[in-house]
Amino acid sequence: MSLPETPVFIPVDFMQDFLQESFEQIGCSQEESVRVTRRLIGANLRGHESHGVARMPRYVEWVQNGTLIPNQQIQLIQENEVISILDGGHGFGQSIGEQAVQIGIEKSLTQGVSVTALRNSGHLGRIGDWAELAAGSNVASLHMVNVRGSLLVAPFEGVERRGSTSPFCCGIPRADEPPVILDFATSLVAEGKALVALRGGTPLPEGAIIGLDGKLGNDPLPLYGAIPEGRYPDPNIGPGALTGFGLHKGSGLNFFMEMFAGALTGSGTSAGIQDTSKRRFCNGMLSVYFSLEFFHSDNWFAEEVRNYIDFYKSSKPSSPGGEVLIPGEAELRRMKERQKNGLPLAQTAWKDLIQSAEKIEVSSELLDQARRFFIQN
Ligand code: NAD
Repeated sequence: MSLPETPVFIPVDFMQDFLQESFEQIGCSQEESVRVTRRLIGANLRGHESHGVARMPRYVEWVQNGTLIPNQQIQLIQENEVISILDGGHGFGQSIGEQAVQIGIEKSLTQGVSVTALRNSGHLGRIGDWAELAAGSNVASLHMVNVRGSLLVAPFEGVERRGSTSPFCCGIPRADEPPVILDFATSLVAEGKALVALRGGTPLPEGAIIGLDGKLGNDPLPLYGAIPEGRYPDPNIGPGALTGFGLHKGSGLNFFMEMFAGALTGSGTSAGIQDTSKRRFCNGMLSVYFSLEFFHSDNWFAEEVRNYIDFYKSSKPSSPGGEVLIPGEAELRRMKERQKNGLPLAQTAWKDLIQSAEKIEVSSELLDQARRFFIQN
């Protein structure tokens, strides 16, 4: 395994212009391009390169091969006062996710609780975005997600791929402070983290990858296999698999993501990837929303949360100079630092973005500026 590359630092404003034009070039409306770009940059700002701007070349390929469709509106399949069953029509997850979460928020504000079952959404990106959006309306939420058409994860005590990276996320709002957000893939690492490691970024932890021989390692290459010249790495091709997190417990949670987000929503599980015509890549997401106003009209909840967080963080650190963090705290700290210093990106990942932008004829002015970051940094 090679060491991570020296990163280039890209100012947020330039990244916004560069990606926005890229998405417009592949047919996204200006509004959608702004939205997709803002959410990808948001993931980088929070330290999740795996779900940030490095996704752009893959989104471009997906639009070009028909996996992903720009400017889709969510379709309502069935509803009552509490439940909405929704179809994302393979639109950009950043647009479809926002529409689905708005429906969930609005219903929970009138009913106290609501459920949205979303099928056939394009990549929903960082799922924490959706819990944050709900928290902005004083709504707590749970989100279970699977990835149909993306068979990557070996089950506990297995070596062959049987599941997707299926993230789980939950969040609560806090009074006068950012919400608390727990958001993680049920694999040891998200596939995007393997991609980042493959393209010169942070290496994977030991045991993140398992080979067909049962050997554990951290080299991401077995996940991608041989990468054809001029093609973007495809995790569906390699012989290896990602491992689950938390032994049998994480693997069990991963299984239930397929049940709730894949089977219950109608989106489909990650099984059957061999027949790709029937298994087009998409996210399914089952979400539950709780209006805090309905559960507690006074400030009891806010006080209880504040007291518990103080108690939790007061645990003596396990190592000298260490600190106990609550879910979401690491992301908030990184965001402050990156807004100031720009987005660090491995040089190979930045080259991938430029190459993709060249193919879709992004303006030469932006491309020239993009290339200059290699020299300036
Ligand atoms: P991760 O392993 O970095 O875990 C992140 C979670 O752990 C966050 O809630 C974070 O606040 C918390 N955390 C991190 N350090 C901590 C510490 N020191 N103390 C306490 N809590 C801490 O995340 P991941 O599994 O690599 O997932 C990355 C992203 O990938 C997530 O945003 C997820 O939604 C996304 N994802 C999306 C898809 C999709 O199909 N859309 C699939 C998989 C993953």
